[in-house]
Amino acid sequence: MRTPEEFKRQAEVREITFWPSHDCSMCGATVGTEIRDGKASYNSSCGCGSSPNHSPGWESVAERYNMQRDEDVIAEMDEFWGFDKKKDA
Ligand SMILES: [Zn+2]
Repeated sequence: MRTPEEFKRQAEVREITFWPSHDCSMCGATVGTEIRDGKASYNSSCGCGSSPNHSPGWESVAERYNMQRDEDVIAEMDEFWGFDKKKDA
């Protein structure tokens, strides 16, 4: 489990501005979390009525990470965020 603060810190360190989530099933635009000025917000700019219950903020970033059970996907996310797997308990 990782905390919202960890993601916020990594975003600053690695200058991450966008965390892609998936492609919109309707128009194919990449939907994800936009990071700007230390804030994370869900980007559904294509406006295809996606994810009204996807709450914005670092809590949802951590939630998306923590709910993942696929080890390959977790490894990808670790690499993206720059988390050191070996230090993870
Ligand atoms: Zn769309």
